[in-house]
Amino acid sequence: MKPAKKPAFKSAVGIVLLAAIVFLGIWIGENSNILGEEGTEDRVSGDLNWGYSGEGAPENWSTLSDEYSKCSEGREQSPIDIDTNAVDSDGDAPGLLFSYKDEDIHSTNTGLFVKVKYEEKSSYIQIDEREFNLIEIHPHTPSEHTLDGDSFPMEMHIVHRAQSGQLAVVGILFRLGDAHPAVQHFIDAVPIHPGDDYFPSEHFNAADLLPSGNFHYGYYGSLTTPPCTEGVQWLVMSEIQEVSQEQVDQLSSLSGSIENNRPVQPLGDRVVTFSL
Ligand SMILES: [Zn+2]
Repeated sequence: MKPAKKPAFKSAVGIVLLAAIVFLGIWIGENSNILGEEGTEDRVSGDLNWGYSGEGAPENWSTLSDEYSKCSEGREQSPIDIDTNAVDSDGDAPGLLFSYKDEDIHSTNTGLFVKVKYEEKSSYIQIDEREFNLIEIHPHTPSEHTLDGDSFPMEMHIVHRAQSGQLAVVGILFRLGDAHPAVQHFIDAVPIHPGDDYFPSEHFNAADLLPSGNFHYGYYGSLTTPPCTEGVQWLVMSEIQEVSQEQVDQLSSLSGSIENNRPVQPLGDRVVTFSL
């Protein structure tokens, strides 16, 4: 009897383990979908049917999948136009602290975006003592946020995630001017071909992208890509940085030579804060 029992026990354990692995796989799959392009999902354009022109254009995102319903039904969507004369600079705006370090990176080209990703979780920001780990940096050409109706040639998004899963994105706007050394470092660190991954030997410090001051516009919004999930804390730096036309052209061509910006969304009842 004994020899017969042991295999039965082993196969029961095996089934439980297998079920756990399958469940974990589904859970990770579903949760990475929730994050979307602004989070950690990797994909090459063509895997999903959304994009920035034709049937996959932003105005059609909500019709492409039931999971994208927030893209049209959401009332706190991003990006927005920031009316700099209408911001609230008196209220309890969240304080922002950067703690970025030299870190190993991994970069990828999704066809719509080039991204630098962080795995070490040693760089973070603090918003009112809540910590958000740096997970990813990617540019949009042209900018997604606008200031008083003005668009900019480029906006860099520095994406962070708290342990709770909440996302906080720092947006940095760039006008045309001198070449930016850290933007060049970013360009040199990402793969040219869609679907490729790259592990540069050099570190990348997100602090090199930051303006000198901490003044920023703050509001609650969403991912700017499907599934347009809300509850994202946005911090758009008010000091505009400079980038050269050549660097903008390089970033655009790395991202499929398309304009990968979602149009601005209604502000609705939201108030944009301005603070340090
Ligand atoms: Zn973005």
